[in-house]
Amino acid sequence: MEAFPQRLRALLDERHATGLYRQCLTLESAQGPLVRLDGRDYLNFCSNDYLGLAAHPRIVASLREAATTWGVGSGASHLVCGHSAPHRELEEALAEFTGRPRALLFSSGYAANTGVLQALLKPGDTVLQDRLNHASLLDGGLHSGARFRRFAHNDCDALARRLAQAEGPTLVAVDGVFSMDGDSAPLEELARLCSEQEAWLMVDDAHGFGVLGANGAGSVAAAGLNETQVPILMATLGKALGTSGAFIAGSELLIEALIQSTRNYIYTTAMPPAIAAASVTALAVLREEAWRRDHLGDLITLFRAGAKALGLPLMASTSAIQPLLVGDAGQAMLLSQRLREQGLLISAIRPPTVAAGTSRLRITLSAAHDSAQVERLLATLGDLWPHA
Ligand code: PMP
Repeated sequence: MEAFPQRLRALLDERHATGLYRQCLTLESAQGPLVRLDGRDYLNFCSNDYLGLAAHPRIVASLREAATTWGVGSGASHLVCGHSAPHRELEEALAEFTGRPRALLFSSGYAANTGVLQALLKPGDTVLQDRLNHASLLDGGLHSGARFRRFAHNDCDALARRLAQAEGPTLVAVDGVFSMDGDSAPLEELARLCSEQEAWLMVDDAHGFGVLGANGAGSVAAAGLNETQVPILMATLGKALGTSGAFIAGSELLIEALIQSTRNYIYTTAMPPAIAAASVTALAVLREEAWRRDHLGDLITLFRAGAKALGLPLMASTSAIQPLLVGDAGQAMLLSQRLREQGLLISAIRPPTVAAGTSRLRITLSAAHDSAQVERLLATLGDLWPHA
């Protein structure tokens, strides 16, 4: 009887002993460039609200209005009676926006990735994944029953070798923009390799969707790749779009088959209809307010130039994710703590999220920031870095 409590205590002790114990912050305000925590305002450089839409007045108004019409909960899974007009409208808008015939909603990106890979793959298939893919892609591949192999990060030669050895129907899955490094996958080259070997390519564009490409349609659109080259496109709604949930976009055949077989779609409550309605509005705002992408691009340039001048350990990222490599987990925690004392909220990312010895500060920029706030970030980093 004591086995489980003992195991849990051992787990917590181990996390404390290795300095890797994790704790939630409890915010006392909405997302934005400034957030309130323990009664104090902090400059927020750790959210994925890349375009500053999470508290956009028009999107908030749309959510409020939709809740009046559609209520709060969806009441059931999509296939029972939880699918309502706002869900349908959002799926159609996302299909149109991504240039794909159909889109299918999921309640989270984690559910979409694990669900799709488990629905699609069978024993005897091969799934090949970039080593730095998001946990949800890795978990979906690992639990799919297919032969699961990783390849070195963004290394097309390594993928080519894996493809040459692959057996059975083969699927290659990558992040479009890598969540902890901020760099982009070489999508054109990956698509070429996949088409040569008749493998399917799946791109998780959680961090590119809304930000990259003309109109913000994402990494795949920016690389000019169509539905034949990237048959499975996944993106989340809780980052640049500022709402919550995720979708898979692809062919009629793919989406119909997923509806029939994806357990994470079939056996779960549909996202609240008001969130779907707010997401339709967010998609319109994202298209109309192109200045947000331009401004974010300017802030990224400003940050990188300033950090370079200060000699900070920038990584090879041109996205809104601008990590600074620290190495040691304890040192990364200390820096995060010192920044907090100076009124800046920036999280330290440590193992097991990243490899041992590559702990980092994951700085994220948003169109909601102004250049003075980025200057303040740089000045504080410059003061702290050598002395932390
Ligand atoms: N894919 C990537 C690349 C992500 O970074 C995340 C979330 N951080 C997810 C999937 C999961 O999305 P969600 O938060 O909607 O579950």
